[in-house]
Amino acid sequence: MDGQTRLFYGTRRRRPKLARAEGAYIWDVDGRRWLDGSSGAMVCNIGHSNPRVLDAMRAQMEIATFGYRLHFETEPSERLADRLAQAAPDGLGRVFFTSGGSEAVESALKLARSHALAVGQGQRWKVISRFPAYHGCTLGALSVTGYAPMTAPYAPMMVQMPKIPAPRAWLDGRPLDDPATGQHYADMLEARILEEGPETVLAFIVEPVGGASTGALVPPAGYMARIRDICDRYGVLLIHDEVISGGGRLGRWFAGDHWGVVPDMITISKGFGSGYMPLGALIAKDSIAETVLDHGSYPHGFTYAGNPLACAAGLAVMDVIEDDGLMPNAMAMGEQLAARLRALMQRYGFIGDVRGMGLLQAFELVSDRDSRAPLPAALNAYDTLVEAAYDEGLIIYARRSRGGHSGDHFIVAPPMIVTEAQIDEIIEKLTRALDRFA
Ligand code: PLP
Repeated sequence: MDGQTRLFYGTRRRRPKLARAEGAYIWDVDGRRWLDGSSGAMVCNIGHSNPRVLDAMRAQMEIATFGYRLHFETEPSERLADRLAQAAPDGLGRVFFTSGGSEAVESALKLARSHALAVGQGQRWKVISRFPAYHGCTLGALSVTGYAPMTAPYAPMMVQMPKIPAPRAWLDGRPLDDPATGQHYADMLEARILEEGPETVLAFIVEPVGGASTGALVPPAGYMARIRDICDRYGVLLIHDEVISGGGRLGRWFAGDHWGVVPDMITISKGFGSGYMPLGALIAKDSIAETVLDHGSYPHGFTYAGNPLACAAGLAVMDVIEDDGLMPNAMAMGEQLAARLRALMQRYGFIGDVRGMGLLQAFELVSDRDSRAPLPAALNAYDTLVEAAYDEGLIIYARRSRGGHSGDHFIVAPPMIVTEAQIDEIIEKLTRALDRFA
């Protein structure tokens, strides 16, 4: 095992050993420092080692670190469920805790199915999703994921769920602010429901603002509302996957609130726990949960659901976001970041698009801006640029998104505590990395 590690994360690439993390920075054991320009994988919304969260966790540790949900309710899980229900759109008042995003998505798919059975619609089982999209790596969540590198090897082990194209207006040369664009993509959902047979369609799952797989894809005008109408017309449940877009970095607890759309269920994780503890949740309409309890059952649950330490951390994270004004800061800093990224387009002809909302911003590389053709695969922009930034002391998040369905996009999503000076630092480091790549 010389020079090897016992850790198995599916790659032979080694990374420096983390020594400490504070605010927007991470240090390794050799004293090198990185600006966490992607909050890990869009996780650490409030930054690292926030003293208020650490204190809340210490206090909870003195009380209990585990209570099995079928034996005890706990104060932190009750309070966090209340808090999430208050933050969620009206009518979404039931919270099912998980340890992460994939588990939250699994829970949503299965609750939707349990609901269909409870109302005597057992023929509904298909969950339509988009391509590209990422909803998690467990087999159920993967079945609604549209990202071939992760789904293809496991295809024989999954139910094939129907996919419709994500509204990549820029790539298709359509104006984002034209309601005709929103209608064009939303109507693909209706067409697919009709093709599948409406009586067989259970749900539609969508990220209000796309995360990893689409690179901060913002929906075109009218899209979100029309999707809601179409789902209503055919009795299809609407699931907003807010694992990345929720938690405040888009200026609201839930990104869907920007369009005033009320889904039937919301899945959350990442920013809500901010990486302090594994935490996720499914937030469902009361009416759905009640119907399932009245007429059916929901034979589903994770051992660590509602872990009191994780919930205590989650409550403190929500306090910090509210009390420190981090949502307004995310919008203000997000605008600056977006403007600075757009300015880089003057300097580098191979940046084809800059998009995003709040502190979820992305840029996409192309070989030709007019045709939006992707960079040649041989350039391996994914590795090259991420590594160049890493060498410069900046962490950005990228998706190896070749395969004809997307270009190479890079997400810049620093913690919501980020300052103007740190935005400057991100841009300086990124510029040096892009110069090396150019
Ligand atoms: N849903 C979305 C939108 C995600 O971005 C992710 C992870 O990136 C997941 C679900 C899965 O979350 P987890 O990795 O915590 O299982």
